[in-house]
Amino acid sequence: MARFPVSTGKGRVSKVTFLTAKRPRSVIELLEGLIRIPSINPAFSGHRADWAGEARVSDYLLNLARQSGLKVKLQSVEGRRKNLWVTLPARGRRTQRIILAPHLDTVGVEDSAQLRSKLLNGRLYGRGACDTKGSVAAMFFSLLELARRSVRPEHTEILFVGLVDEENAQLGSRAFAAKCPDADLAIIGEPTRLKVVTAHKGDFWLQIETRGKAAHGSRPDLGRNAVLEMAKLVLALETEYAEELKTRRHPLLGHATINVGVIVGGKQPNMVPDGCRIHVDRRSLPGESLSDVQAELRRVARTVGVKIEIVDLRQRPTLALETDSSLPQVQNFIRQTGQKSVQGADFFCDAAIIGMAGVPCVVYGPGDIAQAHTRDEWISVKSLKLGTQRLLRYLSSLPWVGRYRWSPSSSRRVSTNRR
Ligand SMILES: [Zn+2]
Repeated sequence: MARFPVSTGKGRVSKVTFLTAKRPRSVIELLEGLIRIPSINPAFSGHRADWAGEARVSDYLLNLARQSGLKVKLQSVEGRRKNLWVTLPARGRRTQRIILAPHLDTVGVEDSAQLRSKLLNGRLYGRGACDTKGSVAAMFFSLLELARRSVRPEHTEILFVGLVDEENAQLGSRAFAAKCPDADLAIIGEPTRLKVVTAHKGDFWLQIETRGKAAHGSRPDLGRNAVLEMAKLVLALETEYAEELKTRRHPLLGHATINVGVIVGGKQPNMVPDGCRIHVDRRSLPGESLSDVQAELRRVARTVGVKIEIVDLRQRPTLALETDSSLPQVQNFIRQTGQKSVQGADFFCDAAIIGMAGVPCVVYGPGDIAQAHTRDEWISVKSLKLGTQRLLRYLSSLPWVGRYRWSPSSSRRVSTNRR
């Protein structure tokens, strides 16, 4: 039985107690274990290299999966970072595949206490509790429960993928999308308060630069001030352009937004600045491409008489997600999870990337995005338990299409022809 180093929350991981990979008795116990194993995205781990990376959490889940007789595979992503694939095969001939895909990384911590799980007043606290180890726990616990049962979904394969790097460049989902097997539906784990999300915004990060002409600070008439040019552009972006965006609305997502988040310009007070740059975050709607957005920004710059250069800071596609909610497999998921309608989300996540590979994607998970990335991140225990029950009910109902429906009360095959 494998043993894993975990944080005590007091000191370094190397000085820690050990968590045995014993099958957790409840989803709460599983989530507590996951919170105590640091998996900070290396982009945010700072000087704590010993807390960086998803490998320890991945190892913990891998051993639990092996003990339960599930098939496991690691997919190399970058350096030593790997996606974890765990498969529960169909008992009979596979006619469909469902993917459960939460990410394993978290954002950084300010305080080692955030790596201790704490249960208080119906809330479980700790880094990743809601984003998104809560979803990892709900999905993985459901899978272990199904593996434990002698009866399984007859014609459905369930593939759990623990993705790396969602919080930074989504390298895990990009690598997965490149090798993604055909699937009927992918459920991406993120805190959606157990609402079924079929659309989320895209997220472009762009650098815009203005160029001026340097001159002595005492003779500004001899130069051209790049900061002044940028000031005109920033004003136009944050007022007229932001208002224009509000006029185009998506039924689930509302309108696109723009935020000027960074401005840097000039060198010293006695020089006319010859350069200024801003970084903008432009949240997009389905149907908007990067080149559409860049063309709009150039048009705004022209209206205020400013010449600009634009650089894409992401260098990777970050388009919006829009899944057709009338698809029968999406309708079935909505029904089995007790929902009547679908929702949109403002945040960007792995769903758009896996969706681009041709797999219909929904985003679903316990917890509320309002608690994500906060210093005292928490998840409601009620939401965690309910989410696990609903996922289990959904997975137990598969396959929803075809001639047979698995009946949870017996191993009897029930003919339904339900679609
Ligand atoms: Zn997340």
